[in-house]
Amino acid sequence: MISPFGSETLQSLYIDDSSLRADLLKEAQNLPSIVISSSAAANAVMLGGGYFNPLNGFMNLHETLRVSESMQLESGLFWPVPIINMLHNQDLNEGIRSAPKIALKDPNIEGNPVLAVQEVNSIEFISNEVKKSIINQVFSTEDPNHPGVVSFLNGGNTLISGPIQVLNFSYFSSDFPKTFRTATQIRTEIENRGWEKTVAFQTRNPMHRAHEELCKMAMKDLNSDGLLIHMLLGKLKKGDIPADVRETAIQKMVENYFPENKVMITGYGFDMLYAGPREALLHAVFRQNAGCTNLIVGRDHAGVGDFYGAFDAQDIFDSIPEDSMQIKIFRGDHTVWCHQCEKVVMMRDCPHGSDDYLLLSGTRVREMLSQGKELPPEFARPEVTKILSAYYQTLPQ
Ligand SMILES: [Zn+2]
Repeated sequence: MISPFGSETLQSLYIDDSSLRADLLKEAQNLPSIVISSSAAANAVMLGGGYFNPLNGFMNLHETLRVSESMQLESGLFWPVPIINMLHNQDLNEGIRSAPKIALKDPNIEGNPVLAVQEVNSIEFISNEVKKSIINQVFSTEDPNHPGVVSFLNGGNTLISGPIQVLNFSYFSSDFPKTFRTATQIRTEIENRGWEKTVAFQTRNPMHRAHEELCKMAMKDLNSDGLLIHMLLGKLKKGDIPADVRETAIQKMVENYFPENKVMITGYGFDMLYAGPREALLHAVFRQNAGCTNLIVGRDHAGVGDFYGAFDAQDIFDSIPEDSMQIKIFRGDHTVWCHQCEKVVMMRDCPHGSDDYLLLSGTRVREMLSQGKELPPEFARPEVTKILSAYYQTLPQ
């Protein structure tokens, strides 16, 4: 079994013991409290689930800069993306400024229940100029049209650092009870299954033939024991397919087209950064924590628009020191049905060209499903089409 990232055992910051948790919740009611940002809440959920092992909380400014500039924690350990609790100055009252401990309230649940308790090691001002340099390093752009950049820019100028203890997993565990899993739970299940070699596949969409075959190619190439389908769960953007529909469609595909007991379908709660290459590194780090030995990184992994080159998120793995992490990536290219080869191929392995490929845009696929038209079986499994089509029929035209 692969080690957790940067430590012998996996440390989760969720307080597992129910009486300790009740005590902490009681203590939290008397602490100064603050409603944190959605991205800080997502970080707390990831820390709570063991995904960001061995971090024990939110980084201070010095560590944030070190991670941005040289991808290293104070300890020297590799780490690709700052994990911070950034707030607007006006939200900090005197109580917060002088407290050794504060309660972090969840912005994503009505009534803002306490999500975590944080020890306050430092409260630091971060100027817009410094934020811009961090943005350039982490996102490789400062274009305000980049959703991750704009969210970081608008996130305030105050950093609160310090260790945290996590009380719950926000809405992820209640809204996605069948799918949401912590890194600790996944690692334990992989261990119980006896998988030595586990490939992780990141997705936020239903899986079509191309994704199915990409996973199968990776499993075959790596001679792996199993596949972890790891869905990003989170608030929906317009046009997104709800997680329960995605989940049902993926379940059906796995049942019918994968060997038995070779696939785990799970999800994690995080706010996508769209940081392309840097985010791919983070994706690898937290899959190692979950017990995976390989991560499939396809074209434009974790990217958005045209901000990153198609293979930037793969190439960055060549530029970091080799001992940065134990997990390895599987480099994927676009996979597509080729009429000449009569199968799904990886574009780089097939001598044919776009005239021979079955290419359907996302817009076209949605259009066909809304009109109740069958997707070609070479593109999508009929069972999957049926589930997606039923969902689209419920939408107002
Ligand atoms: Zn071909």
